[in-house]
Amino acid sequence: MKRNKSIFLVLIYLIIGGLIFFKFQFLPKTNNSEPITQTDFQPTLPDSTESLKTSSLAEPVANFKARVTKKPFGIYSTPQNSPIQPERFTGYHTGADAEYEDAKTDVPVFAVNDGKITFSQYASGYGGVFILETEMNEKKHSVLYGHIRPASLPRVGTTFSKGQQIALLGTGYSNETNGERRHLHFAILTDTRLDIKGYVSKKADLSGWINPLSLY
Ligand SMILES: [Zn+2]
Repeated sequence: MKRNKSIFLVLIYLIIGGLIFFKFQFLPKTNNSEPITQTDFQPTLPDSTESLKTSSLAEPVANFKARVTKKPFGIYSTPQNSPIQPERFTGYHTGADAEYEDAKTDVPVFAVNDGKITFSQYASGYGGVFILETEMNEKKHSVLYGHIRPASLPRVGTTFSKGQQIALLGTGYSNETNGERRHLHFAILTDTRLDIKGYVSKKADLSGWINPLSLY
């Protein structure tokens, strides 16, 4: 009997030892003496934070960069010298135009980042136009999409996640684009203002916009 009791005690010690070992080995380690506070907690950021943020934007339309062939950001055009003929606008171009005259099917446009629609309506010079408000480089910006099919326009207040389809380009030379060719006028404002100007008369006023191609 005494021997059985000894074996029993050894087994108990082994079980307790095993449980203690398990706790230290596999359970999350906590520091009970110093509770973590908001100010103590410093999240670690990846080394290349800056490049990660800017290069992580989704394209507003397929092959965006390659499709900007006629009217880049900042070009000064008049009805006389414009790469687009006939031309009715004069001024410095506030966006970059991605050309889709050759498209045989509907051309979807996508959210370049997580954001919320702050403007969406039919406007002279555009046909359908909407603004997605989104945060880039820790600052909120208005991102404008012009020449959109009015029937596909999103409602103000709708949220979209990066890469999600928002709407379709309008059909060229129709009411949907206010008579313009099928293309996306894509502009990024420096802040969240609801400014839909496609052109500005003074070069200095371009400072209210960012060259979209510089972010891709
Ligand atoms: Zn344009």
